[in-house]
Amino acid sequence: MSTSLQTPIDYLKGVGPSRADLLRKELGIHTYQDLLNLFPNRYLDRTKYFKINQLQANNAEVQIIGKIIKFEEVAQKKGKRLVATFKDDTGVMELVWFRGQKWIRDALKLNTEYVVFGKTNYFNGKFSIPHPDTELLSEHEQNLRSSMQAIYPSTEKLSNRGISNRVMTKIMQNLFLETKGRFAETLSPKLLSELKLITKSEALFNIHFPKNSDLLFKAKYRLKFEELFYIQLQLILKNLIHKSKIKGFPFETVGAHFNTFFKQHLPFELTNAQKRVLKEIRADLGSNAQMNRLLQGDVGSGKTIVALMSMLMALDNGFQACLMAPTEILSVQHYNGLYELCKDLNINIKLLTGSSKTSERKKIHEALENGELDILIGTHAVLEDKVKFKNLGLAVIDEQHRFGVEQRSKLWKKNTSPPHVLVMTATPIPRTLAMSVYGDLDISIIDELPPGRKAIKTVHRYDTNRLKVLRFIRDEIQKGRQAYIVYPLIQESANMDYKDLMDGYESIARDFPMPDYQISIVHGQMKPADKEYEMQRFVKGETNIMVATTVIEVGVNVPNASVMIIESAERFGLSQLHQLRGRVGRGAEQSFCILMTSHKLSENSKTRIQTMVNTNDGFEIAEVDLRLRGPGDIMGTQQSGILNLRIADIVKDNDILQHARYHAKKILTSDPSLQAPEHAVILETYRQMAKYKNIWNYIS
Ligand code: ADP
Ligand code: MG
Repeated sequence: MSTSLQTPIDYLKGVGPSRADLLRKELGIHTYQDLLNLFPNRYLDRTKYFKINQLQANNAEVQIIGKIIKFEEVAQKKGKRLVATFKDDTGVMELVWFRGQKWIRDALKLNTEYVVFGKTNYFNGKFSIPHPDTELLSEHEQNLRSSMQAIYPSTEKLSNRGISNRVMTKIMQNLFLETKGRFAETLSPKLLSELKLITKSEALFNIHFPKNSDLLFKAKYRLKFEELFYIQLQLILKNLIHKSKIKGFPFETVGAHFNTFFKQHLPFELTNAQKRVLKEIRADLGSNAQMNRLLQGDVGSGKTIVALMSMLMALDNGFQACLMAPTEILSVQHYNGLYELCKDLNINIKLLTGSSKTSERKKIHEALENGELDILIGTHAVLEDKVKFKNLGLAVIDEQHRFGVEQRSKLWKKNTSPPHVLVMTATPIPRTLAMSVYGDLDISIIDELPPGRKAIKTVHRYDTNRLKVLRFIRDEIQKGRQAYIVYPLIQESANMDYKDLMDGYESIARDFPMPDYQISIVHGQMKPADKEYEMQRFVKGETNIMVATTVIEVGVNVPNASVMIIESAERFGLSQLHQLRGRVGRGAEQSFCILMTSHKLSENSKTRIQTMVNTNDGFEIAEVDLRLRGPGDIMGTQQSGILNLRIADIVKDNDILQHARYHAKKILTSDPSLQAPEHAVILETYRQMAKYKNIWNYIS
């Protein structure tokens, strides 16, 4: 009987119950298949040997040939350690064991040639290797099939319990011996030939035991492609199924509201990008499928008007619409803006937030249920169970990253049939990442700013230049402009940050004394009503300076504000800096962003600051951000599980991802249910993955 790859790992030669247990607990390896998919972190050139006198004090992984000339037990605080003196023709060093000493002592022979391998320590003028891999030179020479030695992921526990890299390699060899290294192909012959990929068996062999660097490269490529291909296949399938199964409300007409607004009340000409995006939305709304669309557009690119016009389409087809924003300030601002835009349209539009009065709430609830209310704007309050719509046709969510998948699904339940959903975000996510993270959403991008905007000038200033910066602010205020001064408040509750803010506020108040200057302050510990009051004073131009924390990060629109000072800018992430900067540059005047930092900057901080100085392009900034931080910290990726990639890297393997997506799409377009004989292997692999849950890890 041939061994199935689903065989529990316990049955593999060299494993046994206790090792099997460790492998399960430490690395999640349950089956042969799991072991096979334990890909090496890296490879070592095992044809390279160090001499003891070549070692350098830098904690490097080395391989040395020599003999143990004596063993010694050395007492230490707790128990004792076993020390072997290891010698080659250039010098001596030590091998050290803190555990398993008796076993080691019995297993290793004195005055016999060994190859030892491990990480060097340098202490008191002496080199040592703790818990080295050891192998008789005679055996080492026989085993040396490849110059590249796979180094497997490990844990402290594994190495403590004797599952060294050498043991892992041995176990892997046993797996290949037992299965004869023959594994079922998982990609179609057509893909293999079109992309010149090596077979699955070849790839697996060479990823574990590379014959040479060329084959290792091909093996990696093939396995990365396969991994990304099946994720894309899954995402695209999900999207297709969604479109065919989940019926939306078809908005058949473009009616009176939309047309009147477009012809008579549109305050400016739409940019081409806005027009294109509106067409994409219109096509979705007009189809039978439920829309699930992500609208990405840099700060100030004009997403709000797109949201409004989409909502008008809903109204024209007899449906209600709602718009949700993550903060009170933002929803008030949306409400005021949209109310103004719609005032001649005979539309009933209301605001619902956490601070709406009970009587007002009751009226809103009633008007929603009997259909008198057309558009509801609000915060999370909109999601409360008490809020019921007569017929919600479209829900717009502004600033996506503050809303999770959960909230989206809550929205769905507000109707018998799910409303169309438009999610808007000003945190640009590189398209490739968005494709993988939000695979179930369609994506529209506004990649053009309204005309006449002057690019914001960004500079970096050290704290020591504060006086000059203050003078600059004074000059701008003199010209009638307003300024933001933002302090980092990483956690709204962190008292230290809060103190920084208050100290900053006091010193600003000294530098800009009343009655010549008026200052607003807004932070997260204030009551919503106070926040709103202060905010409104700034919006109305009654105050010259707004001292704030990042609560003003999203959405706030004060066109007359032309200066953004960011204190301790090195403490902010790139996307946050970009968001903050987006608060200025909204009017006709030249705007400025000044990044204040101390002189002590890490390399990473320098790159962030320099990137901000160099570019205003949100997508470019997002790419740098992704490179600096990896996908793990990008909003939204945590839930998506895209980090569970086994071999591919979403950033570095961008090209492969594009290929994978292209081919997955091409195959599904021609054969959506994978019924063609040539796709049988893909269907089978896909089914297997679903069965053994491999693929579900990737999907939120
Ligand atoms: P965001 O995408 O950041 O939400 P907004 O929708 O708040 O951007 O728009 C930013 C500003 O640009 C607003 O004052 C808005 O009225 C204005 N605006 C939007 N579209 C255009 C356009 N096509 N032409 C001129 N101004 C526009
Ligand atoms: Mg906005």
